[in-house]
Amino acid sequence: MRRKVIAGNWKMNMTPSQAKALIEETKPLVAGKDNCDIIFCVPFVDIHAAQEAAAGSNIKIGAENVHFAPKGAYTGEISAEMLKECGVDYVIIGHSERRQYFGETDETVNLRTKAALEAGLKVILCLGEVKEERVNGITDEVVSMQTKLDLKDVTVDQLANVIIAYEPVWAIGTGLTATPEQADETCGVIRNTIAKMYGAEAAEKIVIQYGGSMNAANAAELLSKENVDGGLIGGASLKAKDFSIIVNAAQ
Ligand code: PEP
Repeated sequence: MRRKVIAGNWKMNMTPSQAKALIEETKPLVAGKDNCDIIFCVPFVDIHAAQEAAAGSNIKIGAENVHFAPKGAYTGEISAEMLKECGVDYVIIGHSERRQYFGETDETVNLRTKAALEAGLKVILCLGEVKEERVNGITDEVVSMQTKLDLKDVTVDQLANVIIAYEPVWAIGTGLTATPEQADETCGVIRNTIAKMYGAEAAEKIVIQYGGSMNAANAAELLSKENVDGGLIGGASLKAKDFSIIVNAAQ
């Protein structure tokens, strides 16, 4: 039985004081909900305030990106070692907004993933098809290829620190959600790809989340599916009540 993971992706929202207030509001609503892991991935500048607010609770704090170089002339970027020293546990890599607006490719996603894992961070690796790919019936090929490229040279031991977030790009921030069947089927395709790459045991263990307009109303059905081991939540993670309903649905 895989443990579910519910992670919020705040994107470019919340100042440090707003971060503190949102976590203070969320904490009592998710207290004692220990049947799933609860994570907020926050903007770099919110990390400290979020950690202070979450201290002693069941909420863990992650970042939204990391650079692949250990250090150097990469103005505006943050290294894995910097995140680690700040006490960050998780980092999102390969979010479709990074791929779409900031030129991320499977190659750079792979480099970032390896750098994060080598530094001891846990990675939430995002992948998923765009609308045209789903319409043309090549979703399975696309997610399978992304899984292979994004995890190239990641060892089976390192894979234990990887969560995959299946996020159909057409469903992110659009209010459109994959049907529970679509989410289950495509998470299953990713799991089969992991089985081919790493063996059946690793495939059985890996957590595969669904992300894309998951909300208080649709979470229970999505999370009830066999291959859906949690959610990566954008918009609804900015509302304490809605986020806590999703956490409850994962219990
Ligand atoms: C996301 O940012 O990963 C996401 C799934 O966003 P939303 O829930 O708003 O679609």
